[in-house]
Amino acid sequence: MSLLKNKVAIITGASRGIGRAMALRFAGEGASVAFTDIKRDENMISLESELLAMGVQAKGYESDASSFQHCEATVNEIISDFGQVDALINNAGITRDNLLLRMTEQDWDLVMNINLKSVFNMTKQVVRPMMKARAGSIVNISSVVGVFGNAGQGNYSASKAGIIGFTKSMAKEFGSRNIRCNAIAPGFIATAMTDKLTEETKATFLANIPLNRLGSGDDVANAAVFLSSDLSTYISGQVLSVCGALNT
Ligand code: NAP
Repeated sequence: MSLLKNKVAIITGASRGIGRAMALRFAGEGASVAFTDIKRDENMISLESELLAMGVQAKGYESDASSFQHCEATVNEIISDFGQVDALINNAGITRDNLLLRMTEQDWDLVMNINLKSVFNMTKQVVRPMMKARAGSIVNISSVVGVFGNAGQGNYSASKAGIIGFTKSMAKEFGSRNIRCNAIAPGFIATAMTDKLTEETKATFLANIPLNRLGSGDDVANAAVFLSSDLSTYISGQVLSVCGALNT
């Protein structure tokens, strides 16, 4: 299939997990893929090779999404390497879960900077080229807990709720320039991030998922392809839950 042929996509935090699934899925639809991650490790190198073997232009960039300067330099480099940017997927994210009484200021700031400030950092860099092109799609990876909250995830759920507010604002600010901005709210997706949870927490989540399974990176990637493609040209400012009906 070629839903993303001739499009250049930037995906942050993509060396593993959901971001990696998105990079591979985007390449499968013919997109050129520029992806970032905090370090250039074996995951980044292997993803770069896999993408190139699929016959698309691809490159991994070592870049801290929470750093405004890194994002500015990285997007400039990507535009110089790829010539354009059609889609930005703000995916980089972390958890530092704790009940509020035990949560440190450092863990609050870290989660806010990596999960939420990163979305500002990267969006700020791509809107100018997208405005010039009078087209673009920005997809922000939020979470179902950004919609309904979760005990022990005050920092994480606040960052993910912040992403939703930012998404809706950008949809209104840039709609007249044909730049769309949507959020995806994944539920419980099997990655290293959710591996860390206790078996008890996983079982509780699973018991509440009507589709009766954890989601996969591909489940989220399919939604991101749709929102980045011309199949969704009249969809902006929305939050698409990919959660097996958990958030229903
Ligand atoms: P993951 O497996 O932990 O992968 C996250 C990726 O982001 C890693 O490659 C990580 O690099 C990278 N990263 C971390 N900090 C970064 C930074 N400052 N700059 C650039 N890259 C950075 O997580 P995931 O489960 O795929 O999650 C991806 C996104 O989906 C996150 O925004 C997460 O909040 C969201 N989400 C996940 C779930 C779920 O159930 N898994 C549910 C809802 C939402 P390292 O390898 O170096 O750590």
